[in-house]
Amino acid sequence: MSKMKNIIAANWKMNPDSQKEAEKIFNAIKQGVKGAKSEVVVCPPVIYIPLLKGLPIGAQNVYFEDKGAFTGEVSPAMLKDLGVEYVIIGHFERRKHFGETDEQINKKIRKSLESGLKIIFCIGETTEERAEGKKNEVLERQIKLGLKEAESYKLKAESLNVAYEPVWAIGTGNNCSVEETKESIDFIRTLAPKSIRILYGGSVKSENFGDYIKKSGANGLLVGGASLDAVEFTKIIRSAEQ
Ligand code: PEP
Repeated sequence: MSKMKNIIAANWKMNPDSQKEAEKIFNAIKQGVKGAKSEVVVCPPVIYIPLLKGLPIGAQNVYFEDKGAFTGEVSPAMLKDLGVEYVIIGHFERRKHFGETDEQINKKIRKSLESGLKIIFCIGETTEERAEGKKNEVLERQIKLGLKEAESYKLKAESLNVAYEPVWAIGTGNNCSVEETKESIDFIRTLAPKSIRILYGGSVKSENFGDYIKKSGANGLLVGGASLDAVEFTKIIRSAEQ
């Protein structure tokens, strides 16, 4: 694991609401992270991707077919053609608002790996599941079903990144403690292929990014809301590298 760079990914979700603003934030991030030791990946809405050059780009979603009658969808090959390197798959907001299932997530992961995209595969338990003591059961189910038969694509360590994102921590301001994150990351390491990068995500800000990278065993961060503020996002990256 040691030689791989940490990865700090920005998930802009469905923001910002203009090309001009997207370029402005992106250029400020690009400027701010010059010389950073981590791999900084920006995941904008897919429509802005052709505008943004100079940092590795990730998409926030993908479909699992090559092309055809799938109105509104975008294929892994189309993303590759745009120069996209990463794709977020299985984000909680897609599971919740769009009913994405573990089976669909698995198809997206396999097709994307086959197409040469790197994956940021999101998993995490809800408040209720955590309260009922089912966290590990949920993480295990999401990993097993999400990565089913994915080994057949000869997973390279850098191709698969798992983001541990407790649902109760996403966009709530209630980040998971470093200790609890460590427990989950240690558990995920027992299930996922060896030597992959595991990220933490959930209300990361410059004042609370804390010791995730140093003490929880995380190899990076997935940052939502705070990544739309270039100064704040840059601060997170710089602090995480100290
Ligand atoms: C996310 O969307 O993956 C996320 C972690 O969001 P936030 O940082 O806003 O909680």
